[in-house]
Amino acid sequence: MPNAVTPGCQFASDNTSPMCPASWAAVERANAGCESSYGNDPWTARACDLIRQMFEGHAEVFFVFNGTAANSLALAAMCQSYHAILCHEVAHVETDECGAPEFFSNGTKLLLLPGPGGRLTPDGITHAVERRRDIHYPKPRVVSVTQATELSTTYSIDELAAIGATCRRHGLRFHMDGARFANAVAALGVAPRQITRDVGVDVLCLGGTKNGMGVGEAVVFFDTALAEEFAYRCKQAGQLASKMRYLTAPWVGLLENGAWLENARHANAAAARLEAGLRSIPAVEVLGERHANAVFARLPDAVAEELRAKGWKFYNFIGSGGCRFMCSWATTDDDIDAILADTRIAAGG
Ligand SMILES: *Cc1c(COP(=O)(O)O)cnc(C)c1O
Repeated sequence: MPNAVTPGCQFASDNTSPMCPASWAAVERANAGCESSYGNDPWTARACDLIRQMFEGHAEVFFVFNGTAANSLALAAMCQSYHAILCHEVAHVETDECGAPEFFSNGTKLLLLPGPGGRLTPDGITHAVERRRDIHYPKPRVVSVTQATELSTTYSIDELAAIGATCRRHGLRFHMDGARFANAVAALGVAPRQITRDVGVDVLCLGGTKNGMGVGEAVVFFDTALAEEFAYRCKQAGQLASKMRYLTAPWVGLLENGAWLENARHANAAAARLEAGLRSIPAVEVLGERHANAVFARLPDAVAEELRAKGWKFYNFIGSGGCRFMCSWATTDDDIDAILADTRIAAGG
């Protein structure tokens, strides 16, 4: 375990974590000598193969630097400028991508839908499609879900299958933001294909960064026709790494011996431990159901303030007083016990 550089920052996000040993070791191996550039190297070929194996079938795979690029370029590949993307009102594509999906699609509009626990519902999608069908309104073209969601819940296989069927009924494409896809797989105990390919997902943005890499996400097209000319889109957007092996070797490290799933299981278990501890503190109210690696809780203002004064970092994310505590592959029992002890003291025992 590396030493914490900024103590207390581990609960702010899973992207405060270091690279995991498996991805770090793979980069070291990839650093042994010269190698072909722009993805024409064995590491990239191997990473593509491992991702296809993970999803048990053919897919077109592209590697980009971050999730904003992955989501916005994937969405742009499915939309004309007069189309609309249906997503949840707390979706990362809406709240945290600075308008990149609209920018890269030359103006495709995001239509925001409500739904319990950060999840879209088939009824909500159907309502959004049917309330306006006239020429004056942007035409719904894509449904975008986040798995695991921004609120640390997951969609079950059945929920996704129902959304997939709704998409087909209305002629909509199906996009999945999988920045925390591994956490969803770990939480649900399913095979990756069961919550993607099998339920009709056309394109998945597969998260590497929060799972234990240093940089990088993969765009996985199950509908390979959609991947036509996608390489040009990536290049134009500044997302084609010339020393591609440094972006793809970490994927090999994560995927070849199952570290991706171990990392996600660890992060989810850390969140479960933190949640149980917070539930035992009467002044703290745990918010919503948790499936993945974040715990949301309402803390009295004075308690949150005292924790921050002690150096703990966490975001106020939903509602007033709702704090998000995010765990990662690197979160230790000691980290959790320390923040719980400080919370108990701040809350008066
Ligand atoms: C972190 C995250 C992303 C990717 O964010 P970048 O900072 O662009 O890498 C995408 N979707 C969700 C739900 C996320 O939490």
